[in-house]
Amino acid sequence: ETMEYGPSVEDSSAVREWLAKNGPFGHFIGGKFTEPGATFATRDPSTGEDLAQLSQGSADDVADAVKAARKAQRGWAKLSGSERARYLYAIARHVQKRERFLSVLETLDNGKPIRESRDADIPLVARHFYHHAGWAELLETKLPGYTPLGVCGQIIPWNFPLLMLAWKIAPGLAAGNTVVLKPAEYTSLTALAFAEICQEVGLPAGVVNIVTGDGDTGAALVSADVDKIAFTGSTEVGRKIAETLAGTGRKLTLELGGKSPFIVMDDADLDAAVDGVADSIWFNQGQVCCAGSRILVAESVADRFERLLQTRMNRLRVGPPLDKSTDIGAIVDPVQKDRIMSICRAATDDGAELIGGHPASGCFIAPGYLRNIQPANPGMQQEIFGPIATLSTFRTADEAIELANNTRYGLAGSVWSESATVATDLAARIKAGVIWINSANMFDAAAPFGGYRESGFGREGGRVGMLEYLAEPTVKAVKEPAVTKPAAAPDGEAAT
Ligand code: NAD
Repeated sequence: ETMEYGPSVEDSSAVREWLAKNGPFGHFIGGKFTEPGATFATRDPSTGEDLAQLSQGSADDVADAVKAARKAQRGWAKLSGSERARYLYAIARHVQKRERFLSVLETLDNGKPIRESRDADIPLVARHFYHHAGWAELLETKLPGYTPLGVCGQIIPWNFPLLMLAWKIAPGLAAGNTVVLKPAEYTSLTALAFAEICQEVGLPAGVVNIVTGDGDTGAALVSADVDKIAFTGSTEVGRKIAETLAGTGRKLTLELGGKSPFIVMDDADLDAAVDGVADSIWFNQGQVCCAGSRILVAESVADRFERLLQTRMNRLRVGPPLDKSTDIGAIVDPVQKDRIMSICRAATDDGAELIGGHPASGCFIAPGYLRNIQPANPGMQQEIFGPIATLSTFRTADEAIELANNTRYGLAGSVWSESATVATDLAARIKAGVIWINSANMFDAAAPFGGYRESGFGREGGRVGMLEYLAEPTVKAVKEPAVTKPAAAPDGEAAT
């Protein structure tokens, strides 16, 4: 592994060769890549360079993909759980083998620092497939009588492209469904590399189908003959999808936006909490749905906390995403950069003060935070989805909770205190799907993830996540299988 210690810029030549050889890309339908149709460019946001041409999926392409998935579904569901598990294990292993390639491809297409793709995104992708291979294997014993839904349409965003694909495809397949996935238009390349992996492991044709394109392609998938839609993206689009599906009886899960509180109590380890902020809002340029974007700090420690925060922030390196020492890479697209800056402007127009957060040429924005900000300020209420936090203070725990819950979202939260009693008491009072104590942005395939209120509904991950891809048993008296000792839970899942 000489590259690890080599030059600080990761070598992208293998990825560029792959792009030149395989582009322009068609869709992946029925186990094969189609001829490219009308295409659009996908770019490296850090340079603006065109990386490849992708096909804009039409309603006919979507219908073809759904047909292929329908055709494959019966055979896939007929396999035993351990046979399906074998494919999922193989996919996980192949992701690991192509870890460097996939990390570089993800970083080029998305702009995220290579350190993050290599240390977080791609290892978590492999982990998700391993975990769900375990689920496929244990399905018949842990969830007897449950049946797959059929064909699942899955629509994902651009912030964690391959990881969001894994969150959707792994449980879908483990449960015996087949899928049609539409990646985000900015970041479809790792999904297409994943299609190659499906071919390499000999996954039966039609079990995974990938149709690229923009929101119109997504809308076509929502209206297609599918049994479930799983969507991760903005609250605005999630609402439209819920309207389209209302009354159709199709299953729907929505993972939407967030504006998560990050509460620092007066007894918190402030150095650790400041590191937590960096992991929360300055990770992935802040383009994280569960980012701890509203820092709420106890007034008595606020000055000390802010000094530490500024020191930490000023040390972060904004730079080329492929440079291994880069902490903050590029925002995914100029449109998103403009969106971030316009919310910051609205916030400062409304009296807040922006520290840091300077835009730089290209798609870069320095890390920053808004201070002196009132609860009703747009910067406090709207999801910025960029590397800009808000900083406010509270006097009492009750006030902290009131501020924390003063949002239309409810995805996640983070609480920092050296007292387990204080931390768990606060955690229970925050209205959000996931709460981290003395940590932030920890993801595990075994832990359910999802929101309340405008952050969506349904859960991904673990047992609850599996249930979202299954129909309840129709036969009531399912006999418990006779087991002499309890079946082992998939790796990492808490025994229940
Ligand atoms: P977006 O909603 O614009 O796009 C998400 C996906 O939906 C893309 O693939 C897009 O092509 C597709 N799409 C767009 N219009 C559609 C339509 N009418 N019908 C069907 N599909 C359509 O969101 P985005 O800008 O790509 O992502 C950012 C948002 O996603 C943020 O609000 C963020 O909080 C949220 N997000 C949530 C989670 C979560 O797990 N809760 C994770 C990541 C991102």
